[in-house]
Amino acid sequence: MTVKTPGFESMLAGLVNLPSVSSTRAELDQGNLNVIHTLANWVGSLGFTTEVIPLPDKPGKGNLIARLGSGDGGLVLAGHTDTVPFDANLWQSDPLTLKATDDAWFGLGACDMKGFFPLAIEAASAFRAEDLKALLTIVATSDEESSMAGARLLAERSELKATGTIIGEPTGLTPVFAHKGIMMLSIHLQGSSGHSSDPGLGNNALDAMYAVMGELIALRTELAKAHRNPAFHVQVPTLNLGCLRAGDNPNRICGHAELQIDLRLLPGMDVEFIEATLRERVERVAAEYGTPCTITQFYPPIPPFATDPNGELVQCLTSLSARAPCSVGFGTEGPFFQTLGMETVIFGPGSIDQAHQPNEFLSRKQVAEGKEILTRCIERFCFRG
Ligand SMILES: [Zn+2]
Repeated sequence: MTVKTPGFESMLAGLVNLPSVSSTRAELDQGNLNVIHTLANWVGSLGFTTEVIPLPDKPGKGNLIARLGSGDGGLVLAGHTDTVPFDANLWQSDPLTLKATDDAWFGLGACDMKGFFPLAIEAASAFRAEDLKALLTIVATSDEESSMAGARLLAERSELKATGTIIGEPTGLTPVFAHKGIMMLSIHLQGSSGHSSDPGLGNNALDAMYAVMGELIALRTELAKAHRNPAFHVQVPTLNLGCLRAGDNPNRICGHAELQIDLRLLPGMDVEFIEATLRERVERVAAEYGTPCTITQFYPPIPPFATDPNGELVQCLTSLSARAPCSVGFGTEGPFFQTLGMETVIFGPGSIDQAHQPNEFLSRKQVAEGKEILTRCIERFCFRG
């Protein structure tokens, strides 16, 4: 079949050139429909039917579902279209203009993970709809880097069906079968200020926070005793006390305190139960100190993710890549795709070490190898021959 899309490099250059930052900071947040419509055009020219699904309450944002062929089973190739914000002055070239060298392509999102789309499109371009025994689907999501709103919407709508999903996050072409869940919370304690010379003139929020921190450290120890998974580099769940802001002056009783924490939970741990336990214990300590407490989430938690390392797709990618499956420390859209009943594996070109960094790049070697592996996977799961 004649390839009707631009080549890999032009497609990547086009995507890098379309800004699509997603951020929890409203002043940095951008839409992604520019990327979604560009991808829809390219896959449309290969015979895919395309559906753009707007994100409710998020103007300028949406997901793409593109389908080729028909039949039960099949494969989903999925990725996110957004990037993190960037510091242009730390880049050696313009982050939004693709720079090609002998070994690699440099640009914002080249590695995490706009580069996966031209790779998937090039792999798909070898197949015609009539030669497929099962559906081949390409999915592009919104807001992975901020709220995972795109993947959450896909999980709610539950229209995607396939035997397996490959999420092309940068794993160095190593199949990833598990990652931890992530929950970030902010704990506010309200005390009351007064002159420091007489503690009775106020209620010190930092004294209360000191006790709350003790309770959290005790909870962390209990969780680490109760849960362990040798598939992870850090085998126990973690609870990081990340940021403390409190008071204003040494000679005032501290009137308010805020602590920000990050929890990383193992597959099998119940995120809602852990959050409820944490809330109950923090609120009890805060009540003992008479400091009203509010606990808020930065965004809804990302559940832990794990699939069977002996599953069909993990094993297929293991043998094609000749790399043993492993777990990673970063969160992905994996758990949301998995709720749709598909065997979900994280597998894509490039290294997570380059993601979210100035001078982010994707190596030519990984792209060539990745394209070959994806082509074989489509053959295996979708091709009639
Ligand atoms: Zn990513």
